Amino acid sequence: MAASLPDTLHRRGLMFILSSPSGAGKTTISRMLLEADEAIKLSVSVTTRAPRPGEIDGVHYYFVNDAEFDRMVAEDDFYEWAHVFGYRYGTPKGRIRSGLKEGQDFLFDIDWQGTQQLFQKDQQDVVRVFILPPSIAELESRLRSRGTDSEEVIAARMERARSEISHWDAYDYVVINEDAQLCFAKVREILEAERMKRQRQTGLIDFVRELTR
Ligand code: 5GP
Repeated sequence: MAASLPDTLHRRGLMFILSSPSGAGKTTISRMLLEADEAIKLSVSVTTRAPRPGEIDGVHYYFVNDAEFDRMVAEDDFYEWAHVFGYRYGTPKGRIRSGLKEGQDFLFDIDWQGTQQLFQKDQQDVVRVFILPPSIAELESRLRSRGTDSEEVIAARMERARSEISHWDAYDYVVINEDAQLCFAKVREILEAERMKRQRQTGLIDFVRELTR
């Protein structure tokens, strides 16, 4: 039987950011990660866009109107916020700071602008992962298979996707999503490895002291 580890083996939580152009599979990978790993919690964003079918307030997003978003900005309630596709999206401060201290990991499904802002505020805890589609043709076919969007909407989405992809080099890790299971496995390995980073394991000093006594 494995011996239980001492309480001193504490580490800081991490801010695990997943970004990608829409259609590259980020939402699927996020969902798989949250289902497989109970130790990571989704940072639920606030948005001014309307809920899509199946989206639940407080689970997928906090849906607010413009006035409420303005109030949150004025009261400095956001870690970061940005304009994305004509709406505003933001990460509420909530319990993130205290959660990190307690060792809670958070998953962020945010764009490159939010990633930049979080990284500027907290380089120590941020891990930036970018997911790329295997080809531009595959991305387009995934966007088309989503529904009945007009050619104009598809073209606008493709344009946005190209623009999002152009920020790939501001990330620590880049994973190409050829297959959701494989991509998920790679993203999970990144998370596991990052958890073991020496700098994050603030309790190691005491633990090793005990080991070498
Ligand atoms: P969607 O409306 O499709 O859910 O999201 C649109 C885009 O907004 C996605 O690229 C998503 O990652 C980004 N996004 C969602 N929440 C936030 C947030 O809190 N901050 C920022 N900067 N981007 C976000």
